[in-house]
Amino acid sequence: MSAPVLILVNKPAVGIDVPAGTQPEFERRDPGEPQLSVLDLGTTRGDGVFETVMVSEGRAPALAAHLDRFRASALLLDLPEPDREVWGRAVEAAIAAAVAEAEAAAEAAAEPAVLAVKLVLTRGIEGSGRPTGWVLAQPARDFTAMRREGVRVVTLDRGYRHDVASTSPWLLQGAKTLSYAINTAAIREALRRGADEVVFTSSDGFVLEAPTASVLLREGGRFSTPSAEVGILPGTTQRRAFEFLRSRGHDADALRLRASDLQRADAVWLVSAVRQAVPVTELDGRALEVDLALTDDLNAYLSARQAS
Ligand code: PLP
Repeated sequence: MSAPVLILVNKPAVGIDVPAGTQPEFERRDPGEPQLSVLDLGTTRGDGVFETVMVSEGRAPALAAHLDRFRASALLLDLPEPDREVWGRAVEAAIAAAVAEAEAAAEAAAEPAVLAVKLVLTRGIEGSGRPTGWVLAQPARDFTAMRREGVRVVTLDRGYRHDVASTSPWLLQGAKTLSYAINTAAIREALRRGADEVVFTSSDGFVLEAPTASVLLREGGRFSTPSAEVGILPGTTQRRAFEFLRSRGHDADALRLRASDLQRADAVWLVSAVRQAVPVTELDGRALEVDLALTDDLNAYLSARQAS
């Protein structure tokens, strides 16, 4: 396994200058050395945003969509606007360095490397007014078996109404914040209930998302996903999955979906950048159809090199 590549972004936001004494807009640092202050609000408050980008064969097919969402998340938190050009260049540099690392590692010859590239922007050290940014590229977790075997899912109430994003925007629903403790607690609850994963529902009965994935449903040949207006993260993978499904002549729509729609669905997938599409084998104890041929084709499309 090759080592992670860390790039510190010295010019993370528009209107933020490179700090005195540091010339480049970003620079490679040693991920094994301490790089982050214990006073950083990203660590003390989870006050920041992130993206995880899938890189296959050296290409990030959804990078533009991730950079768009990174900006949208930052603005929802009133963080300074990420400098898109700088982040784009930093990500490309991290990918190039990580691909070189992987090629140098002996085992890389067997499988083309899939990387997970994380972009993080925090509010920075308290009182400094200077956000902290970095890019970390590392070999991705291998989801091959999960894409074939699927996951068992339970629905859990997130405790917010479907319109929470407009009634209580300070809850930051729809932003990809660093505060994922609730998301991981929900997955632990799924494990306690004998399942692997979660689909959240709103307190008033709408389907939302998984803790780290979007949800796709199929009922009678029609595909759907919850629309982003119910206070969920607009998924980059869901968007690409719909491109694929429509190119195959399927209807695929973002809708307000009731929990009863989920219970009626004949097939369900969880989709996210690095995991890609994983079929749900069981929903609240009910066995679902698993379409392995479609799942394989969808995953081949998602890992294709071209930009979408
Ligand atoms: N919803 C949540 C809460 C997520 O954390 C994620 C990804 O991590 C997604 C949806 C899927 O987003 P993407 O397909 O862009 O990875």
